[in-house]
Amino acid sequence: MSTYKVGVIEDVNKVVFFDAEKREPGDKQVLVKVDSCAICTLEQRVYSGVMNKYPFAGGHEAAGTVEAIGKKVKGVKVGDKVAVRLLNSCGECYYCRNGHENQCTTSFIAETQECAFGPGGFSEYMMMNAADVYKMADDIDLTHAALTEPLACCVHSIENGKIDLGDDVVVIGIGIMGALHIQLAKLKGARVIACELDEKRLEVAKKMGADVLINSGKVDAVEEVKRLTDGRGADVVFCTVPSSALAKQSVDMTGKLGRTVFYTSFHPDNPIEISPNKVHSSEQIITGTVNPMKKDFLIATRLLSSKLIDVCELISECVPLSKLDLAMEKALKPDTYRIVVRP
Ligand SMILES: [Zn+2]
Ligand SMILES: [Zn+2]
Repeated sequence: MSTYKVGVIEDVNKVVFFDAEKREPGDKQVLVKVDSCAICTLEQRVYSGVMNKYPFAGGHEAAGTVEAIGKKVKGVKVGDKVAVRLLNSCGECYYCRNGHENQCTTSFIAETQECAFGPGGFSEYMMMNAADVYKMADDIDLTHAALTEPLACCVHSIENGKIDLGDDVVVIGIGIMGALHIQLAKLKGARVIACELDEKRLEVAKKMGADVLINSGKVDAVEEVKRLTDGRGADVVFCTVPSSALAKQSVDMTGKLGRTVFYTSFHPDNPIEISPNKVHSSEQIITGTVNPMKKDFLIATRLLSSKLIDVCELISECVPLSKLDLAMEKALKPDTYRIVVRP
């Protein structure tokens, strides 16, 4: 019997490795040899103790190659490069059945390891259901493929923004999610205005293709967006920073018939003041976006496979799985983009 390593967050700031038994896949299962798994905020929250779920087999942004397939698997073959969908939906609730599985009432995590709860991407192997395994291009860099899940979240957000050709689109906050929003909005044919306090991040925005950069620490971002749009305000604004003050700014800088999309979740969730009369007279739409749908995940794999989206700049560092604790520490630093863990 051969075994493999699974990285598990056992307690606050504590990572251990469990030995798991390598099994043969069942009929509709796929054994994936993990190549890369990026660290997202979910794992950071568990590691730093903000979320208390121990032991937790973290890692939900994973990619690898198919090692073995079950008898009834048709979508992939041994040796294929794949991305895996680990933040899943139940398939049974009202929203799953009416085509909005991102609003699933249980939205569970696909468990790929028997030794601990969690998506289990910080490991050498994962046992996946075939439906959650997505084939990528043969020449894809698997460290890039690991960013399929965050890209899928942004794809869903961009679709909610309903961008038209030539629209003025503002992206507030140039973390990894803001950076992906810029690239996607450019693909949709928008003029993209990036708002950010940090000069280094504004440089990233430029590399992502932003047309106009606003340092919101130096100028009034709402006034600047109005000036750039002949007083109209933006057609679409994406707020990617968990700050109620910036949520209010996003609403204020959105023009008539425009859409404001709250991409991020807000902690703490401080209420903001909205002028009902502005919403009434402008027919402005304020909406949010949460979790990708299967379709968004598929689109993300295609965008990465065809190299229409480039995530190279957004991977700060690759760290071996054996140094998972170090990788976590690095990911928690505010100036890093994605840290990718590699078995
Ligand atoms: Zn994620
Ligand atoms: Zn559901």
